[in-house]
Order: sequence, then structure tokens, then C-alpha cells
Amino acid sequence: MKIETLCVQEGYSPKNGEPRVLPIVQSTTYKYDSSDYMGKLFDLEESGFFYTRIGNPTAAAVEKKIAALEGGVGAMLTSSGQAATMAAVMNIANAGDNIVCSAACYGGTFNLLGVTLEKYGISTTFVDPDSDLETLKAAVKPNTKAVLAETISNPSLVVLDIEKFAELAHSNGIPLIVDNTFATPVLCRPFEFGADIVIHSTSKYMDGHACALGGVVVDSGNFDWTASGNFPGLTTPDESYHGLIYTEAFGKAAYIQKAVVQLMRDMGMTPAPMNAFLLNLGLETLHLRMPRHSENALRAAEFLENDDRVSWVNYPGLKSSKYRPLVDKYLKGGSGVVSFGVKGGREAAVKFLDSLKIAAIVTHVADARTCALHPASSTHRQLTDEQLIECGVSPDLVRFSVGIENADDIIADLDQALGK
Ligand SMILES: *Cc1c(COP(=O)(O)O)cnc(C)c1O
Repeated sequence: MKIETLCVQEGYSPKNGEPRVLPIVQSTTYKYDSSDYMGKLFDLEESGFFYTRIGNPTAAAVEKKIAALEGGVGAMLTSSGQAATMAAVMNIANAGDNIVCSAACYGGTFNLLGVTLEKYGISTTFVDPDSDLETLKAAVKPNTKAVLAETISNPSLVVLDIEKFAELAHSNGIPLIVDNTFATPVLCRPFEFGADIVIHSTSKYMDGHACALGGVVVDSGNFDWTASGNFPGLTTPDESYHGLIYTEAFGKAAYIQKAVVQLMRDMGMTPAPMNAFLLNLGLETLHLRMPRHSENALRAAEFLENDDRVSWVNYPGLKSSKYRPLVDKYLKGGSGVVSFGVKGGREAAVKFLDSLKIAAIVTHVADARTCALHPASSTHRQLTDEQLIECGVSPDLVRFSVGIENADDIIADLDQALGK
């Protein structure tokens, strides 16, 4: 089936007389006919639901849909995007290990890897994603267990050369993890270009309506965990399951099964069934929304580029963007986020934001409704102007998340607010 059909239909097929809409199974618990069967479930000898922390029918249907959308062998929903990033890394990295991560990444990823996981003994080396392959290779150490980068980075809008990063990872016998939040599988399927694991904050476009936090880890099934001897957690016995070896028990799905039965069991970053249901509603229209977000954002970016009240515009879909060749190679559109500078600096940017009528001031991005943020006076307000420039967020920067309203109305709103 094509991606449009998968968005609408995959994951849940009701039998005769069952509800047409994916049911919300609001139950922590499942009932068995015998204690022997239940014992087999706990030993992973039978498959089935035993406790919602580890699996739930509503979440399972959505996991099946997202795995199909990305073209993977399995997926695990999490309570947030942060939890997905954490699980994806901790599933293969232990104390003493290292991760190589693109410096053009989400602030939450930067804190998780650069500060918090560092305290648990997992170090991270941040690299400039636009460096050439030889420079990037110098960052990989013998204890590096994965390379991580975003398809389109939040908020800097750097487009990843996925094949270059896959080569970087594979030439060192380690997997490439791609955070595909801003692209979604409708605009890019990173597995087709060599990525091994895909993660998402489903709180953004996948949900699309800013209703429910969530995340997902998807396994391509393509990475050979046994080849290098680098991943003993997958290839040697797990004492917490009577010596089970994931690669032997689960084959191609070893990585994602370990994430579920070990990390989700022990850490419990479980999505609520209700949130999985809301995510599924968003996914049903994802294939309609992403092209509209991309078209509207391109129209808005072209308007801003030709307006002399604006000092600069960054949108990877623009013909003038240095990332446009990568958009043409890897993506079916530039997605919905545009950043730009208002002439007059910090004060002008604040005045502009306060004058918007359709676009709302919010922290969120990637929403059906147009929204805007001025990082210098909100998320980054503790920083001086010099510090802001150092981390790539100039005092005049506005992050504009273009929604699926009529593009003429969005442009008229930009125009009148710039006038103020
Ligand atoms: C928002 C975001 C996250 C974190 O997701 P939450 O659902 O907010 O926890 C991770 N990566 C990217 C690219 C994001 O935009």
C-alpha cells in the first residue's frame, strides 16, 4: 500500500461487528485462562499483552502504523519525544560509551546527551553536520556506539546529508539514528537512505493538533548487531530474562524488542492509551497536511525574502537556500518551519510578534495552526546578545511555524505585523 493508504488504514482492521474506529483500551491489566499461560508471557515464550507499561492494544496498533509508514520492522511508542531519544540511545550505549551527535539538534537533545547522560557515563561528541566525511570520521572513537542527527533540525533548519552520515556510521560498524520529527515519513523515509533507527517527537506534525505529547522509536531491521561484537547487550545473555539473547530470539527485530521488554519494562516511559488514540487521529491526515505545510511555508518564505523589512530568511525549500539540493535529494518538501530576522533587532522582533493576529505566540512548533516564537525573549531569555549569537540564535530571530490555513491569509498577517 502507498503511504496515503497506510496513514488512514494501517494498524487496525476490525473483525465482524467490532468498532470501526481504533478503540481506546483504557486498561492497565489483561486476563488469562491459566497461570501457566501467564508465566509463558512473562518468559516471552508467548506473545500477548500482560501489563500496559510494556504493551497496550491501542498503542500497538499505532506502533504498527508508524513502523509501516517508515518502512521498519517494528516501533515502540513512548510518553514523549525526549523519552524516545533516551531509549534509542540507552538501548545500545552503556556507561563508558560515546555517541556522535550533530550539533544542529533540538535543545532537549543537546541537554539530554551533553549534560544528563554525561552524568550516567555516556559521553557525546557534537559535530558540525556540514563538515566533510573525513573530518566527521575523526570524531568517531573506538567506544562510539551510534551517530545521531535530525533530518531537518529544530530550530536551525539544517538539512542532513543522510547518505554521508550513514557512511560515517557504517564505516565504523555502528548504526545511524535519525530524528525525523520535522520531516515525518510523508516527506522523508530515512531508512531508504541508510538510516538504521528513526525516532520522532510525535508531539509535533504526527499528532499535528498539539493535543498529546508522545514519541516513537522505529527499527529498520537492517543493522547487523552481531558483526562487530560492539553490542553485547543485544548479542549476549540477558540475565533478567533467564539468559535470553535478543539477536537469537528476535532476529531482525532484536533492537526494538529489547527496547520494549527491557527498557520500557524497567524505565516505564509508557504512552497513555488515550494519547496513542489521539496520535492515530493525527496520523490519518498526515499525508494531506505535510504537503500543505510545505507549500504554505515556501510561499511565506518567498514573501519574506522579497520584503525589505526583513534582514534574512532561512527556509531549506527556498531556491536560494544552500540546503535546497539536499531537500531535492531526500525530501518531498521543506516542511513548515521558517526562521527569519526582523530589521530593527530584538525590539522590532518583539513588536512584530505582538502584532500578529492569525499566528499565535507559543512555545510549540509543527502545529496545524500557524504559530511563532521569539527565542531571545522567551526560551533563550537568560542569554546575553553575545551568547545568543554564539549558539546560532540571533536577537532578531523569529521562528515561524506555518500552519495549514490559507497561505494568502498567513502572508497578509506577516505583512500587517511587519508594518507595525
Ligand atoms: C520537540 C522535539 C523533541 C522532543 O520531543 P517532546 O515530545 O517535546 O519530548 C525531540 N526532537 C525534536 C526534533 C523535536 O522537535
